[in-house]
This record gives sequence, structure tokens and C-alpha cells, in this order.
Amino acid sequence: MSLTVLMNAGPWLSVPPPGYGGIENVVATLVPELRRLGVRVVLASVGSSTLPVDERVSVFPDGQFAALQRPYNQVCGISQAHLSGVVRELHSRDDIDLVHDHVEAVGLATLAAMGPDAPAVLHTLHWDLAKHPALYGNLDGGDRVRVNGVSASQLARAPQALRDHSVGHVHLSTPLAVGADRRPPPIKGDHVVILGRINPGKGQDLGARLAHRAGFRLVLAGPVGPYHRPADLAAAGDEARQNPDVRFFLDEVAPYVDGDRVRWVGTVAGQERDDLLVGARASLFPLRWEEPGGTAVVESLALGTPVVAITRGCLPELVEHGRTGLLTADEEELGDLVREASLVDPAECRREAAVRFTPAVMAQRYVTLYEHVRRTAAARRLQAA
Ligand code: UDP
Repeated sequence: MSLTVLMNAGPWLSVPPPGYGGIENVVATLVPELRRLGVRVVLASVGSSTLPVDERVSVFPDGQFAALQRPYNQVCGISQAHLSGVVRELHSRDDIDLVHDHVEAVGLATLAAMGPDAPAVLHTLHWDLAKHPALYGNLDGGDRVRVNGVSASQLARAPQALRDHSVGHVHLSTPLAVGADRRPPPIKGDHVVILGRINPGKGQDLGARLAHRAGFRLVLAGPVGPYHRPADLAAAGDEARQNPDVRFFLDEVAPYVDGDRVRWVGTVAGQERDDLLVGARASLFPLRWEEPGGTAVVESLALGTPVVAITRGCLPELVEHGRTGLLTADEEELGDLVREASLVDPAECRREAAVRFTPAVMAQRYVTLYEHVRRTAAARRLQAA
């Protein structure tokens, strides 16, 4: 296949990310599979990205994530500067068949404004689509710009104008799913894990309360705002409270963290993260928001750990109640389900991941969408000519 894609990962973190980094991880998972399928990839990211690609474009030498703590008027130029670099690149060459964009709001708005002669665009929506109603509710990308979601439930809640541009959804994937069905059975400990940013939507406060009430050991893994380790948060002092996720942690979660029944271990990565998940009886998702994509959900299944969750967002699309996890709409029932998680067969979770959530499955689906988006845009351009 001869297809050249400009993959726009944005200015915030390098690809692959140094630690936590949802979108950059998706790009790092997708690109090697696309290249295996014969797609040429031009990566628009920051200079410190190390992912092997065919060509690179960058405006910033390294990730600008830390700047997001600053006030809006000091930050608002960053994604614009990155996008201006992408637009310059697109104007300077004619071999880009499609832009696969991952930059929230600014990517979509800038690329849609480029006019009919610009390349076709597929913009992946990684976030909650109740955000940016004025942008999404009035979107007009003509026949050149299309969007995709990361779950059906996410798209179902999108404004009509955004849905009119949609080519459907592509579930997230994980390299851990490759050969997951052939790995030996995991040895389970007695702990339960919540893996994710510590944030009201992810519901660590509810999980921690249930751990004390239902009597299970809970490990909370993930950053609190910009703080990756308990010692960093402690050292930051009162200033840290400016961050809403820090306030949530200190006020709603920390009172339950006793270092025994409930522990916060900070961000875990690599083998440490995998070992923590493999050894867990269950992964808990006490959600208070409509989880759009759920990378941590598919990672848990790939590592043979049943998912116990509130039935919200994409959870029912990724987890089958009784077979790969246990779901309930009732917060209070969640604690009881943790006790029943041992009834779910870890081998079934790993089989499911190996069939549905590998990078190859995701890449194949994206290539199909690229072809579709490119054909639609080209047909309309021909008609206009
Ligand atoms: N993650 C991690 N270490 C942590 C907490 C989270 O590596 O301590 C990773 C997790 O494995 C997943 C990603 O961060 O790959 C979170 O993505 P998800 O879609 O679950 O949540 P988001 O933060 O994007 O809403």
C-alpha cells in the first residue's frame, strides 16, 4: 500500500511518553503496526520523541506538559505554535495523503480551517465530548475532515454536528494483548488495584471508602495532578493545592489512605505496573464519569485481571459482565462485586484481549478508515473540479 500519513501527536509529551501519557501511548502503539502494514509515517511531535518513524516534524525540542500548570494566557500559544508548524509542513509538500490528528480542539479547528486543497484529516477524539460544545456543536469540516471516537458510547453523547463528521469508533489497544492467551496463568495476591490519574471522575474516593467498608486491600496507582510520587506531593507544600486533582486527593481520598488497607504508591510504570496488575485480584473502576476509551481496562484484561466497575461510558463495550469482569450501576454494590471477582476466569480475560485489543487489530481498523476518509475527500474534490 502506498499511503503517507502525517501523525500529529502534539507538543505536550514525547512519543513514547516518559511515564504517564495516554494519547502519546496510543500513537506509540499504533505507528509500528501501521508501518508494518506499509504506511509511511511522518510524526509531528516534539524533538525528544524517539519512536522510529519515516520522517519527523517538530516545533518544540521537548514536551511542554509542565507548562499546563501555568495560567491560560501563558499557555494558549503552545498548541497553536505546534499546529502552525504542521500547517507550514503541509503547505511545503504534496505527498501527505492524510493527517491523523490527536491534538484536542486546536488540531481539529486548525486543520478544518485549512481549506479544500489541504489533505484529508482523521481527528481522533480521545476525550469526553461534552467538552468544547461551541466548537463541536458548530463543526464544519466539509468532506475533507472526519473524526472517530474511541468507543461507541463516547460518540453517542457527542453533539450532532460532530457526529455528522464521524466515521465510527476504534477501541484502544495495548501491546500487552499480543500473545496474552499464551502466557502462563497469573499468581494472584490479595490486593485490588485502581490504575489511573487520581481524579474525581476515576472515583478513587469511592474505591477507598469501599475498601474500608467491604474489607479489601486497595492499591491506588497513578499521578495526583503533576505529582508522581507521594514524596513529591509532600514536598510541594500548600502551593500544590492550586491543582484541583491535588485538592480532590487531599480532601476526599487521603483520609482513607492508611498505608495498610489503602495505599497510594504514586505513578507506576513498565514492569512494576504490569506486576502490580498481574498480581491483583481485580482492577477496580469506581467511575463517576463516562470513561471514553479506557486503556487501563484493556491492559487489565490483557494481564488476566478481571475488571470490577461501575457501568459507565465504554465499560460495557470492553467488559462482558460475568465473563471478563463484573459491572454494576450501584456504587454500594461495587464492594460486594470485588469479593466475587475470583469467579471470573483470568484466562478468559487474556483470551478476550488477545482477540480484540491488540495493536494489530487497532491499526487494521485505522487503515480502513484512512482509505475511506481519503476516498471521500478525493471524490468530493474531483466533483468540485
Ligand atoms: N498509567 C500508568 N501508570 C500509572 C497510572 C496509569 O502507566 O501509575 C497508564 C495506564 O496504564 C494507561 C494510562 O496511564 O495506559 C491511562 O489511560 P486511560 O485511558 O486508562 O485513562 P486516561 O488517563 O486517558 O483517562
